[in-house]
Amino acid sequence: MADELILGIDLGTTNSLGAYMTPGGPVVIRDASGNSLVPSVVAFGTDGAVTVGSQARTHAVENPLSTVYSVKRLMGKGLADIREDLKFLPYAIDPGPNDTVAVRIGDGLMSPPQLSAIILREVRSRAEAALGRPIVQAVITVPAYFDDAQRQATRDAGRIAGLNVRRIVNEPTAAALAYGLDRKEDATIAVYDLGGGTFDISVLRVSGGVFQVLATNGDTHLGGDDLDMEIINLVTDGIRSQFGQEITFPPATRQALRDLAEAAKIRLSTQQQAPIEIDMGDGRVYRRTLSRQEFEVRCGKWINHTIEHCQMAMADARLTPGNIDQVVMVGGCTRIPMVLARVGEFFGRTPYTAINPDEVVAMGAAVQAGILAGMSRDTLLLDVTPLSLGIETLGGAVGKLIMRNSTVPCQASEVFTTYVDGQTSVDIHVLQGERELVADCRSLGKFQLRGLPPMPAGAPRIQVTFLIDANGILSVSARETRSGREASIQITPSHGLNKDQIDGMVKDSYKFARQDMNAHRLIDIRNEAGRILTAIDKALADAGSILSADERTLLDTAVADLKGWLDRTSQPAQPPDDDQLDAFYQIIKAANDAATPLTQAQMDSVLDKTVKGRKLTEL
Ligand code: AMP
Repeated sequence: MADELILGIDLGTTNSLGAYMTPGGPVVIRDASGNSLVPSVVAFGTDGAVTVGSQARTHAVENPLSTVYSVKRLMGKGLADIREDLKFLPYAIDPGPNDTVAVRIGDGLMSPPQLSAIILREVRSRAEAALGRPIVQAVITVPAYFDDAQRQATRDAGRIAGLNVRRIVNEPTAAALAYGLDRKEDATIAVYDLGGGTFDISVLRVSGGVFQVLATNGDTHLGGDDLDMEIINLVTDGIRSQFGQEITFPPATRQALRDLAEAAKIRLSTQQQAPIEIDMGDGRVYRRTLSRQEFEVRCGKWINHTIEHCQMAMADARLTPGNIDQVVMVGGCTRIPMVLARVGEFFGRTPYTAINPDEVVAMGAAVQAGILAGMSRDTLLLDVTPLSLGIETLGGAVGKLIMRNSTVPCQASEVFTTYVDGQTSVDIHVLQGERELVADCRSLGKFQLRGLPPMPAGAPRIQVTFLIDANGILSVSARETRSGREASIQITPSHGLNKDQIDGMVKDSYKFARQDMNAHRLIDIRNEAGRILTAIDKALADAGSILSADERTLLDTAVADLKGWLDRTSQPAQPPDDDQLDAFYQIIKAANDAATPLTQAQMDSVLDKTVKGRKLTEL
């Protein structure tokens, strides 16, 4: 770690978070439970206690007047600028000095930078706790459309929080930095940012490492909250039509409805349906299921608005969607499948989603902080893949699709199948490394291909495709070719990797080459043995009676030997050597030979059924 640590901070309207740069790339600050987001909410108790983050958010229901959220909307603004916002903010706002505003807290007033400073202090102290060292330097991000007064207010907030703000960076620029797009010779990038309460589209040009904002557009009151409101309206309409028009919803119930609507929306990003259940408090319960399709019909208009803003930004930048080289997704709502699909359609290319859309801006702020601190980012830009990439196959082995040192961009595809009858989902585990077993490789991500029609084991054809584009972003997709079911994931394989780790992994692969190869062979033989035992079971059920007593004894002994061997090798202390592997092949061969009369009889009976009643010329 460099001596000078500069914290990258995304000071957001809804959530804030910090990240810092390491030689292996940017790392997000998390608390003990793994949470990175600090809700941008500050609550003032009657006893003078100040709480921040999720704790403050829970105060909002009982204490709306002294719970301040969305303070970012007030930064650097005068009363006349925020008339629209006033409708949305429950706390009291007064005019402040020099055409600013102030928030009334009890008998006192607090300026927006003072309130933002409380959030910044929380982000800073979390980082100090996580890193075990004091932090005084920061890079803070702001929307690209922030004017001088808003940027100055953000700097002031940093100063009040005891931070030396080394740079204010545009959020879309930070997102592009997180993806390493500053390394492009010359590229035009669209950053689509759909958060909880705001939508921004920014068009950037990068040339020689310098970003220029070509256009920005958006709506400061369009975001996930509007989608939640659609669900709330759907649910309250349902409740009223079921239980009577006179039903009212007290504030606590309204908050509960808001939480429930948000949970349903988030669930619908991965599932087709979300169950909704509301206890009416008088013994009655309202239940309904919300489908993704209903959600999309209801919320489509909001997504259409975002696309209209994209069109306006394109017109302002005098560009067409075809001129855009990369689309970067930011904000929690870009996980919504319809959002991804519509944005992809508009720009005619798959948007980048490899980095968590809630964390990408903070990661980019950390990259900028690293540049200011003079850290090198050698491992981020790659024209060859430094390590092989593949997926987990049955038994914990790795099937490699892209080999180390392949020139990027590159693509590879392989067909896999299922091992269990009637399997309706398949887990795809993406791995990086040179070793043969999953346990010795680096896990890059997992996803599930769901909704496969039940088929016998071995029948589905699952085409897995790895594609690495020129920026080193890996897209892995899995498609079952008969049913057309598809799922995919995007990953940045270079994140968190430094040169020493790469060298270490390559060295280990040489050191353990023989042992790894035998371990992989053992897995393959065990898989084969499993397949043979299943086939013998099936054949015995179908045609077991045709075996003579001797043949049956021979088969039972061979099967028992094979099962015994499978048990003994389930957790080998060390990989088998060549002699042991050869002995295992003999045991499998014995079982196969002993089953020959049976499989022969089974085949004859199948042939018999197929051929019966048909002329020879029809066969
Ligand atoms: P941000 O302002 O970027 O933190 O985004 C917050 C918004 O993203 C909120 O409206 C969340 O409900 C929404 N959000 C977070 N995760 C998801 C998800 N998986 N699917 C849909 N919306 C999400």
